[in-house]
Amino acid sequence: MSDTREWLVQWLRDAHAMEEQAETMLNGQLSRLESYPGLSKRISLHVDETKGQAARLRTCLESLDEDTSTLKDAGGKLMAAAQSLSGVFAGDEVMKGSLASYTFEHMEIASYRILIVAAESLGETEVARVCEQNLQEEEAMAEWLKNNLPATTQQFLARSASDSDNAKR
Ligand code: MG
Ligand code: FE
Repeated sequence: MSDTREWLVQWLRDAHAMEEQAETMLNGQLSRLESYPGLSKRISLHVDETKGQAARLRTCLESLDEDTSTLKDAGGKLMAAAQSLSGVFAGDEVMKGSLASYTFEHMEIASYRILIVAAESLGETEVARVCEQNLQEEEAMAEWLKNNLPATTQQFLARSASDSDNAKR
């Protein structure tokens, strides 16, 4: 077995753990986004995409004759990183969440770009194609978050200002 193949398998497993962590992080944010329906709707959509991405990665591992029964155990790997991103909230959870999501999407983008090169160098075109599919969803999400960031920030600041006005009355 070539080293490259071992790396490809390892990185597919890491990506699967990353997607499970993404699902946990996004669901955690959703519970705090009642006042931001547009953001909430896009994150809900991405939760569904994320589940599909994890399923695609399992299919890739199976096509490489890898055991997927142990995948659940890998979930803890990125836990620390994601917890530090989702962090301690101080009333600005929507902004902390926006930071965490935008950062996380770029980690996902980098992961799939790496996986595509590794898969292509082994001639694993189906794995490369699947990773390209996941990559496109991550890029679309990152782009949406980028475009939405000014509006989210303005909405947060307006809500914050009106809350403190109400408190003074
Ligand atoms: Mg993802
Ligand atoms: Fe994502």
